Amino acid sequence: MSDVTRARVIAVANQKGGVGKTTTAINLGAALALSGQRTLILDLDPQGNASTGLGIDAGNRDLTTYDLILDDTPLADVVTKTSVPSLWIAPATTDLSSADIELVSNENRVFMLKDSLANRATKDFDIILIDCPPSLNLLTINAMVAADAVLVPLQSEFFALEGLSQLMLTIREVRQSANPGLRIEGVVLTMYDQRNNLSRQVEEDARETLGALVYNTKIPRNVRLSEAPSFSVPVLQYDPASRGSQAYLDLADEMLNRHLETA
Ligand code: ATP
Ligand code: MG
Repeated sequence: MSDVTRARVIAVANQKGGVGKTTTAINLGAALALSGQRTLILDLDPQGNASTGLGIDAGNRDLTTYDLILDDTPLADVVTKTSVPSLWIAPATTDLSSADIELVSNENRVFMLKDSLANRATKDFDIILIDCPPSLNLLTINAMVAADAVLVPLQSEFFALEGLSQLMLTIREVRQSANPGLRIEGVVLTMYDQRNNLSRQVEEDARETLGALVYNTKIPRNVRLSEAPSFSVPVLQYDPASRGSQAYLDLADEMLNRHLETA
């Protein structure tokens, strides 16, 4: 990376609900941390699933991404350690649901998160993964304006590609209006079922439409991935030998290799 004082910021986004954004943020984050990347998961979803999944109780979220965006609270004050070495979280609470509305009247509304991550604010991290809400609202736009790239989890099911054109259009608009350098980090197939024709069809369509943007690594449907959050840890700690763990380790490898190729 050319600028060593700045983290690489990646927005994990898809306006479709339940496609694996949070599961990817948590487990890719843990895999990146294990690979030696100082990784921060920034929870930008009022549901706070990433915060809960990493064991940050709602009662222990004193300073949150709401304070970061709307109250000028420094990133360092919002960040908390997780059970994984080199993995941190900036938690969210339901407070964040009002941020979307509060931002509307603010002239600087799409730049609020970018400004919070400016200068040397992110110097303690190599990678920041922003877990976006299932919407193309102002929070997601803030993430895209603050980000270097967007990582898109795509659920391997019938309507998966339908919402993608809207997402790509939004990325194009953000490029034109506020963040010309915004790239697509990659598209990752999630909840993939090898035995299911539909999964294979979605993969074929995605690779045909999006080409090299689609990672070789696919995240299988794996019950360990859905169980881990209730134990407040990433799957790499809950069941390191699971297929879900291996898949997210592979995804982290593939992502880091791509970074090296484009550095
Ligand atoms: P939202 O849009 O509500 O934020 P999301 O896109 O963040 O949802 P997740 O919360 O990551 O999606 O996943 C939705 C549900 O699917 C969760 O219950 C999660 O545990 C489960 N899930 C995600 N990925 C997998 C997988 N690969 N295998 C099995 N279950 C999965
Ligand atoms: Mg989520």
